[in-house]
Amino acid sequence: MSAPEKERSSVTLDTIVSLCKRRGIIYPGSDIYDGLAGTYDYGPVGIELKRNVKEAWWRSVVYERGDCEGLDAAILMNARVWKSSGHVDGFSDPLVDSHGPSRKRYRADHIEETECTRYTVTDVTDADAPVTYDTQLWAPSKGKAKEFYQAWWERELGLAGKRVKIEAVEGSTRKGMFGPDDGGLLGEPRNFNLMLTTKVGPVEDAAATVYLRPETAQGIFVNFENVRTSARRKLPFGIAQMGKSFRNEITPKNFIFRTREFEQMEVEFFCKPGHLCKDGELTDEQWHKDWLDRRLSWYHRYGIRPENLRTRPHAKDELAHYAKACYDIEYLFPIGWQELEGVANRTDFDLRAHAEGSSKDLRYFDQEANAHYYAYVIEPSAGADRSTLAFLVDAYREEEVKGEKRVSLKLNRKLAPIKAAVFPLLKNRPELVAMAENLCADLRKRVYTVYDDTAGIGKLYRRQDEIGTPYCVTVDVESLEDQKVTIRDRDTMEQVRIPATEAIKYITSGIDEA
Ligand code: ATP
Repeated sequence: MSAPEKERSSVTLDTIVSLCKRRGIIYPGSDIYDGLAGTYDYGPVGIELKRNVKEAWWRSVVYERGDCEGLDAAILMNARVWKSSGHVDGFSDPLVDSHGPSRKRYRADHIEETECTRYTVTDVTDADAPVTYDTQLWAPSKGKAKEFYQAWWERELGLAGKRVKIEAVEGSTRKGMFGPDDGGLLGEPRNFNLMLTTKVGPVEDAAATVYLRPETAQGIFVNFENVRTSARRKLPFGIAQMGKSFRNEITPKNFIFRTREFEQMEVEFFCKPGHLCKDGELTDEQWHKDWLDRRLSWYHRYGIRPENLRTRPHAKDELAHYAKACYDIEYLFPIGWQELEGVANRTDFDLRAHAEGSSKDLRYFDQEANAHYYAYVIEPSAGADRSTLAFLVDAYREEEVKGEKRVSLKLNRKLAPIKAAVFPLLKNRPELVAMAENLCADLRKRVYTVYDDTAGIGKLYRRQDEIGTPYCVTVDVESLEDQKVTIRDRDTMEQVRIPATEAIKYITSGIDEA
């Protein structure tokens, strides 16, 4: 992950969190029991948004391509899968514990090193018999940590109320890490495995331990042969899968950006290794570039502003052990530039590792070349929740209309959770209500539509604007005479009056064009 930068999106995360809770988009998990860290629940509006994000992804990587197949593998897999993939031994984050009062734990790669110094404390209450303690504690050379440690020394060494002199130990300066919460010195990094486990079967022994998958990718690799043979595929071809993944994140935070349970949208695209390619065949490196471009344009196509997206190549020392090259697609979140999706060239690491682990031949037989080899893999790996958050943040608008603040979500119409809302202008006129309800029932057959008569028209508009509903349809007294309705556009706020029978066509063509 890149170091947080000063740049931020203009909306704060708090604003998005409170909109989400207020409007039924996303709630904290297990809310009535004070929550469970790192879990969130999608409400009636949020589930529609997330489903639409996933649907748009699936459409672009499976339906629109022709060279990718879909898959839905089990979350629970044989534990040997995770041994072969390297997750049992290597899927860990470097962790550091704070020696400060909070005793908090952080990811070492999220904390910047600063210069620090070791101090001694001397009790000089009795000037003739000063007592010096080498506390073995470090504090940042600059800043307030020295005061913090002074309080600690007073407490720990029983020097409260005494006259003390605090002095830097000469030549003790070095680099160190300090907890962002209390300034406490952080210990040496230790590795912490991120996989969550559970037990299967009635017997609670070690053999019954299985992992909750930390990524969807391995389900694809173990099914490579199944899909290749049953779908009669030749290289290059891809397998797409989306679904839940679980990671025991040390510091789940920033709303749905980093959670312990989340959804991934991953493609493993199998291609011929570049060194075996003939003229005219795309190499693994060219496929890598191609996928990166396509994934970037997917975010643009569904409304993310280009200035809020960037790609960041991984430096050599940052690359995962299996990757030949990797790009992060980063989005300018309210917390700064952060990874939205990784697009990696995983070479033949995965198929080779599973072939060795399972003793099954997972090499590809290239009839034309009359040769066996392991396919290379290009992996665009996105998060459904992080994408949903990026779409929400990017769509958020605040403006002043007639002296009042107007909040709207300018979501791409295909992603909008609810496509249309129907209101009767007067709810005490049964004929009006009946006409609005009938129209709503008709619209529902084609697009997700809601009916609302629980407030005045201004408030009803504001509610729908806040969840990004592109069309609000109002049935008024005149509608009873001329059978026409008024449709208001979310973005332009312009209104058109058209026959009620044409409302479906008007709305669906607006969505199709998006
Ligand atoms: P990070 O460095 O942020 O922990 P990562 O590099 O470990 O992410 P990958 O293993 O590449 O992430 O996972 C691919 C995608 O899955 C990420 O780009 C992100 O969109 C999503 N993802 C990963 N971990 C989480 C999480 N804890 N919560 C939500 N989404 C996640």
